[in-house]
Amino acid sequence: MKKLVSVVIPVYNEAAGIQSFLKDELVPVLEKLKENIEIVIVDDGSTDQSLEIIKGCKFPRQIIVKIVALMKNFGKEIALTAGLKEAEGDAVIMIDADGQHPAEEIPKMVEKWQKGAKIVTALRGSNTTEHKLGSHLYYTLMRKVGDKNIVEGEMDFRLLDREVVDEFNQFTEHNRLTRGLIGWLGYSQEYIEVQTKDRINGKPTYGIKKLAALAGDSIVSASRTPLIAFGYIGLFIMAVTFAPGLFQLIQEYILGDPLKLEWGGGVAVSLFVAFLVGLVLISQAITALYISQIHAEAKNRPLYTVSKAKSVGLKNGKK
Ligand code: UDP
Ligand code: MG
Repeated sequence: MKKLVSVVIPVYNEAAGIQSFLKDELVPVLEKLKENIEIVIVDDGSTDQSLEIIKGCKFPRQIIVKIVALMKNFGKEIALTAGLKEAEGDAVIMIDADGQHPAEEIPKMVEKWQKGAKIVTALRGSNTTEHKLGSHLYYTLMRKVGDKNIVEGEMDFRLLDREVVDEFNQFTEHNRLTRGLIGWLGYSQEYIEVQTKDRINGKPTYGIKKLAALAGDSIVSASRTPLIAFGYIGLFIMAVTFAPGLFQLIQEYILGDPLKLEWGGGVAVSLFVAFLVGLVLISQAITALYISQIHAEAKNRPLYTVSKAKSVGLKNGKK
């Protein structure tokens, strides 16, 4: 039986270039594939004519087209999530709508998948001049913050096998980075190196936006830094009181003060109290970490809302 390949495209205010991307770049490549094709376009609350333009596009009859119109702008990560939920393919490819991801590499991805790859990810080739500093800063920070599931140069241009998509669809967290989550799943990935291109049209706003979001995230994670800092102070206090405390205990109370220091009970109590304060500070910092995580997940809202009126061909929608 012929397999179905879905292509998920997040779109936010791409009116200037979306038509030529779909018509001139994407569709000609897809038409040549021998698999059945489904295109899932997610309009991420565009405020320009993107949605109207997409709906006006003529696609070849054999290509299934779904349009998920989100109620408002939820951001690219959530838009991708919405698209992956709606996609029904045996393999799902995600690709940006701005023409920066070379659609002509899709057959290569599909071929690797047909040979058994579960994930095929595009890596930014050497030609890239595009906000290099920004992205380098980004990966450095990501590694520092602790998400080791992200590989430098990975693009959100990738193919996922159905199995991986089903796993991905089970994630419920809200603050999500598709790349990190996919890496976390633990499948081995195959890579293809691609040359990125310039945006077809419009301005590359996301570079600055991305950095701003990053700054936002680091501020949020920094807001628990003071609490963690107190934890370290606690650790320090415990460390510096432990040795003299033990020393006094043995020297004075067990050996009977052979050094004639005569520190006495006051010193013993002070050291003991300070030691306990250190312990309390540490456990507080640990509690703070738990709370900050619980807080992040407790707001268990739906991830997005779909406009059924505006969407087309959804499996759960009315139209
Ligand atoms: N995008 C989206 N929602 C947003 C921002 C962007 O769906 O809030 C889409 C956008 O239309 C494009 C892709 O995500 O198809 C990547 O966006 P952009 O080119 O701005 O980001 P970058 O190339 O810097 O990663
Ligand atoms: Mg782009």
